[in-house]
Amino acid sequence: MMGLAEDGGLLLPRTIPRIDSETLASWSGLNYPQLAFEIMSRFIDDIPSSNLKDIIHRSYATFNSEEVTPLVHRGDLHILELFHGPTLAFKDIALQFLGNLFEYLLNKNDSILNIIGATSGDTGSAAIYGIRGKERLNIFILHPHQRVSHVQEKQMTTVTDRNVFNIAIRGSFDEGQAIVKTLFNDIEFKNKYHLGAINSINWARILAQVVYYVYSCLHVLSHEKDCSLDFTVPTGNFGDIFAGFIARRMLPAGTVRQLVLATNSNDILSRFVNQGTYSRGEVKITSSPSMDIQAASNFERYLYYLVDNDSARTKDLMEEFGKNGALDLTDYREQIRRDFVSASVSDEEVSSTISRFFNEHDYILDPHTAVGVKVAEEFKTAGVPMVTFATAHPAKFGEAVEEAIKTVPPSDEVLSGILNAESKCKIMAASSKDIRDYVTRHALRTAKQKRQTT
Ligand SMILES: *Cc1c(COP(=O)(O)O)cnc(C)c1O
Repeated sequence: MMGLAEDGGLLLPRTIPRIDSETLASWSGLNYPQLAFEIMSRFIDDIPSSNLKDIIHRSYATFNSEEVTPLVHRGDLHILELFHGPTLAFKDIALQFLGNLFEYLLNKNDSILNIIGATSGDTGSAAIYGIRGKERLNIFILHPHQRVSHVQEKQMTTVTDRNVFNIAIRGSFDEGQAIVKTLFNDIEFKNKYHLGAINSINWARILAQVVYYVYSCLHVLSHEKDCSLDFTVPTGNFGDIFAGFIARRMLPAGTVRQLVLATNSNDILSRFVNQGTYSRGEVKITSSPSMDIQAASNFERYLYYLVDNDSARTKDLMEEFGKNGALDLTDYREQIRRDFVSASVSDEEVSSTISRFFNEHDYILDPHTAVGVKVAEEFKTAGVPMVTFATAHPAKFGEAVEEAIKTVPPSDEVLSGILNAESKCKIMAASSKDIRDYVTRHALRTAKQKRQTT
């Protein structure tokens, strides 16, 4: 619940539990929520089993596939579809769980929380769907007015629950983020109004994502003789692939052989893996906007393990990066290369991959997924199964897909339903004072108030 640790760093578990081969084998018959319980309960010792099971079960009951994350086999690749949640992108897997987890903890402590965040599109809707309808939580999401796609805007603003406050600011995403920061930095305001965040640095999100790596191992390896496999992960914030790094440490040695990190032309992480230098560049706008990131917020977590679990050194390095926008980690190159391999993909390659994959395999990739597929094909080794993640439904990024395959990708009921639905959104100036006043008027104030309004 605390977000950042007291020294401003990110939180990690003290130890990472290990799963031996017998235990892993004994999980082969479990469905997704059952497996999630086995994995999460190894990290969570302060929620009774029956409650944790219930939280997990409700989080994945909202998915439109009974398997939650179905695996499909196309060409040489196993594609793990992570887009069957309510907003049709992989962030639902973590945020459905996080919403229910927050609700449980607030109930237990008879407390309330006002979530505030800024979004450039995707995370906002997944966060809203995680929090909607929850009594002890209000959520305020700022997005740049008329600067998100029509689908993204509709996904957010058609959620008309009483506890959801969409704010379209007349300004950029960066201005939105700056406003949120200003509100959080006002400690008195933050405490008085119980402000909370739901961003990508929450450890519980990583934990929820570890599950589908283990799920893939169980389902792919049960069909293959080999006992080892590779993963390719389209990455922006280093979150999804960091969950793979944790999964590899938990599983029997050798189970996860290679972790392949795929980026679009915002290639800070690819350059890091291939050259050992971590240096910020200009953010480029690509057809895979959810990966248009230059400073990956979860990078710090990997850095901690890279410098041999040394918190003080991690802190120094992050401060150096904050100052200079660059870190020289070439001394660690060998270790980095043992942990990851990587390549980046241009928008032209994304488009040609979508088109080729559609023609050869009759399967439509969204642009983020195509980044992964292109790199997965490059790193695929004979005899070792390769799993790559489909992180968004193709209809969510319909324009880029249509351009590549010259037909409109089939929509999903979820999307067609919202395009004509009623919206609720407040358009406001990009002023932290105005936003602050608005939050003050609409925030949940006390647990008692929560009871009066319900
Ligand atoms: C957020 C996102 C990603 C990148 O995930 P990270 O955890 O930031 O690496 C990839 N694809 C889609 C569709 C996303 O929304």
